[in-house]
Amino acid sequence: MLPVVAIIGRPNVGKSTLFNRLVGKRLALVDDQPGVTRDRREADAELLGLKFRIVDTAGFEEDDAQTLPGRMRMQTEAAVAGASVALFMIDARAGVTPLDEHIARWLRASKTPVVLLANKAEGSAADAGLMEAYSLGFDEPVAFSAEHGQGLADLFEAIRPHV
Ligand code: GDP
Ligand code: MG
Repeated sequence: MLPVVAIIGRPNVGKSTLFNRLVGKRLALVDDQPGVTRDRREADAELLGLKFRIVDTAGFEEDDAQTLPGRMRMQTEAAVAGASVALFMIDARAGVTPLDEHIARWLRASKTPVVLLANKAEGSAADAGLMEAYSLGFDEPVAFSAEHGQGLADLFEAIRPHV
C-alpha cells in the first residue's frame, strides 16, 4: 500500500492543478469556478521518484466554515485522518483568508503532519501572501506554483520525511 498524501484547502487555490501535475493525467476537473471538484478523487502519483497515493479533496468547498459537516466535509476529515501527510494549500496571491485560518486551526487539531504550500507564487504578486503564510503557524511555507511546476524540489523535501 502506498502512503497517502491529501491536498486540503479552500476553493480555487489550485488543489486540482497540483493533483493533475502529480498524477500526470487530467483526472481532476480544474476550473476558475470554486467547487468544481465534486468528490474526493485519488490516484497513484509520483514526485521526483517518490511514489504515493494522492487525494484531491473538496470538503471545504461546499459549506461555509460555520455549518455542520456535510458529506464532503466528512470525506475530507476521513482523507486527512488516513493520510501520512496533508498538503495545506493557500493562494499566495490572495493572501491568508478567514477560511484559510479556519482550515489551519482544524488541521492543527488533527494528528496528521501538515506541509503548507503557498501556491501561485510565481512572480512578485505573491510576495506579501508568502509572508502572511507564516502567520498560520506551520513550518516554513513552500513557495509553489502548481501551474508552472515551481517548487517541486522543495515539496519533495517537505513530504519525504512523511511518506
Ligand atoms: P481548486 O479549486 O483548489 O482545485 O483549484 P484549481 O486547481 O481548480 O485552480 C483554480 C484556478 O487557479 C485555475 O484557474 C488554475 O488555472 C489557477 N491556478 C492553479 N495553480 C496556479 C498557479 O500556480 N499560479 C496561478 N497563477 N494560477 C494557478
Ligand atoms: Mg478542485
